[in-house]
Amino acid sequence: MVETHSGGCACGAVRYRVLGKPVFATVCHCKFCQRRLASAFAVIATFDEQSVEIIQGELSECEHRSDKSGRWLRMRFCPNCGTTVLHTAEIRPGMRSIVAGTFDDTDWFAIDRHIWVQSKLPWVSMPPGVAVYPQGAPPSPQPDQPQEPAP
Ligand SMILES: [Zn+2]
Ligand SMILES: [Zn+2]
Repeated sequence: MVETHSGGCACGAVRYRVLGKPVFATVCHCKFCQRRLASAFAVIATFDEQSVEIIQGELSECEHRSDKSGRWLRMRFCPNCGTTVLHTAEIRPGMRSIVAGTFDDTDWFAIDRHIWVQSKLPWVSMPPGVAVYPQGAPPSPQPDQPQEPAP
């Protein structure tokens, strides 16, 4: 049986459920995540979109375009309390990323990697056993397609 986990926004208007474990779980220390979540870093659990179900309420959407890459990020938040619950990103089609502080249980999955560590706050130290990237993570491997050597 596939495990399920639930979560929601701070006021309780929006509730969601996820199926199974995240495809990957990331801590992002970029300046944009620090600002958009008003926090020291973002904890992001990314799932296939069909594994994420909004079971109550409606989410509003705000699109941000990176001035570095030009790609969009669509943040989806509760219109009542403003909690950002998830986002979708142009770079990850077919996936939804849950802002993991919104889970009812926040400790049920392990973090795979820390990204944008070059802008982490000085009092944050890296735990052993995780992948650490100064900037963004390399693209996810595509299991359906053979890896082609770079030209
Ligand atoms: Zn809310
Ligand atoms: Zn970030």
